[in-house]
Amino acid sequence: MKILKCDLCDVTAEGETFDDWMAALRPHYMEAHADVMNDPSRPHSKEDMEKWMADNQARFDAVD
Ligand SMILES: [Zn+2]
Repeated sequence: MKILKCDLCDVTAEGETFDDWMAALRPHYMEAHADVMNDPSRPHSKEDMEKWMADNQARFDAVD
């Protein structure tokens, strides 16, 4: 089980795998960062999502 912070704040989520961690973080993201997710000035392309996933996967993999 890994515990990892949200990439936008200090709230933590935990999961056995990256997918578990994402599933655990999603409700927090929806509640605390809905403005970020819905901000039209932020890039939301498929590439941006893939970059977000890759960055967070790297962070997840870096945790022991
Ligand atoms: Zn957060």
